[in-house]
Amino acid sequence: MVNSVEGPETCNSYNMLKLTEDLYRRQPSSEYVDYYERTLYNHILSSQNPDKGGFVYFTPMRPQHYRVYSQPQEGFWCCVGSGMENHGKYGQLIYAHHQSNLFINLFIPSVLNWKEKGVTLTQQTRFPEEEQTQLSFKVAKPTRLALHVRQPVWSKGFQVKVNGKSVSTSVDDKGFVIIDRTWKTGDQVSINLPMTTTAEVLPDSSAWVSFVHGPIVLASATGQQNLTGLYADDSRMGHIASGAMTPLAQAPLLVQANPKDLVASIKPISGQSLRFRLPGQTTELQPFYQIHDSRYMIYWPYTAPENQKARLKELEKSDELTLKMEKSTVDKIATGEQQPESDHGFQGEQTEIGVHEDVHFRRAKGWFSYSLKNKNQAGRSLQVTLHADDAPQRFNLYFNGILLEKVQVEKKEGNGFFTKTYALPEAAQKSDTLLIKFEAPAGSETGPIYEIRLLK
Ligand SMILES: [Zn+2]
Repeated sequence: MVNSVEGPETCNSYNMLKLTEDLYRRQPSSEYVDYYERTLYNHILSSQNPDKGGFVYFTPMRPQHYRVYSQPQEGFWCCVGSGMENHGKYGQLIYAHHQSNLFINLFIPSVLNWKEKGVTLTQQTRFPEEEQTQLSFKVAKPTRLALHVRQPVWSKGFQVKVNGKSVSTSVDDKGFVIIDRTWKTGDQVSINLPMTTTAEVLPDSSAWVSFVHGPIVLASATGQQNLTGLYADDSRMGHIASGAMTPLAQAPLLVQANPKDLVASIKPISGQSLRFRLPGQTTELQPFYQIHDSRYMIYWPYTAPENQKARLKELEKSDELTLKMEKSTVDKIATGEQQPESDHGFQGEQTEIGVHEDVHFRRAKGWFSYSLKNKNQAGRSLQVTLHADDAPQRFNLYFNGILLEKVQVEKKEGNGFFTKTYALPEAAQKSDTLLIKFEAPAGSETGPIYEIRLLK
């Protein structure tokens, strides 16, 4: 995804938080809340424009790209609907209770009114802009409760005090510190949450690094140039940031062999909370959730000093294909994915979807079709992505109801994904909309189709 102008979709995180909350209900482990907190601050919180209120669909990881926001009267994507819920739910998992156990999961300023117990708990904090939080009790009568305070995975030197005095900080096997006592009005619990900065590389260990302070993902704002479609119109692809991509080789390259050494050289800017200076860079690091209406860096390419030239070459090469392909694409469909398919008027009979090597596909014993938008009537050919493992692969391909080709790929072609391109007949070139249909040959079925592109 580092190359793509698309990226994590806000609905994904919305749904993952629902799932996480359900798992937590079954088994209240701090691991779930660590995930929840990370997703809440870094994705959900970042996904609404603080001035105009619009919602974000994709959050590209591509260096120096940007996000677009919905407008009240112009679009109603899935991420607008779930987006409205998202920002009404910050109170959802701060606290939880079971019998006489009260769980403090998140460090968000709030007031808990626990009517059945006659307990009011007020949490005061500017977290993550300060490394501590305060809880104060107001009770109808002295009440015995076991307070379970989450010890976050990122906090080294976590400490809990009650009325200014240290208490034992033994942690249970679920990652919570338990303080079991009779609480009186005026009792104060202070929780110390020291944060450190860490580096995280991509799971495939390729030379990309991101920085996290406590649970907060850090990023740099890198300018407001070419923010085409920043506030989306009602066009079908309005939710994708379509402004020019900045070449990867022009992204700030961190020259350091080891990400751990990079972290050691990151310095906090004095007098400003959550602002850091990255060595050799003019831009500052700050929480990603603060960055709006701007291009940004989350993942940084890095290299050892002696490999600088080779690393730049590698970045150039990785861009070539993406930039060339995007330039020549008129319309595209990620087949087997809900939103792209519904955006393209999917229809079909006896058809199903699946996933192979992490890529979605659609296949059929009957047929399926999509409507492609031939913007400026620029489309000249159709590119279909197939996979070598699926040979033999046969389907009949129709344009606007006319058979274009009986496709037969009998033998395995190489390894992995490959593409086949079919020229559009002249009549189809003059059409603004192209109906593309894949039909299984009689008594057979189409193999998986992974992507469809209308090319210039
Ligand atoms: Zn969505």
